[in-house]
Parts: sequence; structure tokens; C-alpha cells
Amino acid sequence: MGEKRVTRIDKVVLASNNEHKLIEIRNILKNLSIDVISLKDAGIDIDVEEDGLTFEENSFKKANEVKKLTKHAVLADDSGLQVYALGLSPGVYSARYAGENATDEENNTKLLNEMENVQDSKRGARFVTVLTLITPDNEKIVVRGEVRGVIEKSPRGENGFGYDPLFTPDGYTSTFGELSMDEKNSMSHRSRALENLRNKLKRL
Ligand code: IMP
Repeated sequence: MGEKRVTRIDKVVLASNNEHKLIEIRNILKNLSIDVISLKDAGIDIDVEEDGLTFEENSFKKANEVKKLTKHAVLADDSGLQVYALGLSPGVYSARYAGENATDEENNTKLLNEMENVQDSKRGARFVTVLTLITPDNEKIVVRGEVRGVIEKSPRGENGFGYDPLFTPDGYTSTFGELSMDEKNSMSHRSRALENLRNKLKRL
């Protein structure tokens, strides 16, 4: 009695145009029989301006704007890299660190330049993901996931996206760019956030 019930979610619109995020999230949720569809598949053409100062603000804004356009559940991922020696930059500016519409390669080059004089023991960093889920009943659930590691001095590996070729997670010698998707997904910021989301959904 008095228990809050969330309508069973079988379809989620991912509030992102990032194909890599879509593939990773689909892969992480593959055993849950939740159909994760892209904005395009949902027939939604929107590019939400990410002008928040935190991952939480941007994640909520993306989910909220897309939820106005669909009856389905919406999931938004706002994520980025925080480097301790750079005062947690690039942070919410990760996607456009080297400028609007910068490529991953340009962002990686900028990061390496900024860290040129940073010694080995000071190259710690973390990836952060904040997920906002808005259910069909307009319940809002926010979770976070993080993974710590170090920034390498040159890129290694072709897998993944973004800063993956420069990031080696703690306890590993391979970068995210060298690890397989399954290996990355076993510990990534995104999979940890999704695990937290799954636990919250179970409790509701
Ligand atoms: P968003 O689309 O505003 O959340 O920006 C995410 C940006 O952060 C991406 O464009 C990447 O530069 C970076 N990023 C987030 N997650 C990852 C990841 O798993 N690997 C590498 N880079 C990531």
C-alpha cells in the first residue's frame, strides 16, 4: 500500500544524436528487453543547446526538451572527461573543447597540448556520466557514474569514441580505445550510471 509504481518501460528514446552512445547503451541494456531508440527513429529532430554548467543541468535539459515531444520514456546522457591537473576541464565542454563542431581528434590534440608539461604522477582524470530518465508518467530519475584513470601522452587504439584513445582506466594498461566494447562496458562511467539507474528502477 502506498507504494510508488512505475509503468513498465519497454521503449526508451535516447535524447542524443551520438551514435556511439546509442550503441554502448543498447549493448549495456541488452538483457533487459528495453528497446532503446534514437531521436531519428522516434521522428524527433531537435538539437538541445547544452548551456548548463553541470552534467546534471545539461542531462535534465536534454531529457526534458525531448520528453515534450514523445509519450515514451526518455533517457538523456550527459557525460565528459574531468582532468584533475586542469581544474576538472574539459568537463561539460568535452565535446567542444577545441571549438564548436570540433572532431574527436582535434579535442584529443588540444588535451595533449594542455597537458604537455603535466608530469606522469599528475595525469589523473575521470569520466563522468549523468543520466536523466523521464518515465511515461513523468517521474524523473537522475543517476551518476564515474570511472577513474590517467591521460596518456599519445593516443592508442581505434575503439570507442571521444577521448577513449587517451584514457587508461585504473588497474589496466590498455586505453579505452584498445579495450573491446564489452571490456569498456564492464566498468565505464556510462555502464556504472546505468547500473545505478537499474537499481533505482528496481526499488520503485
Ligand atoms: P555530451 O554529448 O555533451 O554528453 O558530450 C560528451 C562528450 O564527452 C563526447 O563528445 C566525448 O568527447 C566525451 N565523452 C563522453 N563519454 C565518453 C566516452 O565514453 N569515451 C570518450 N569520450 C567520452
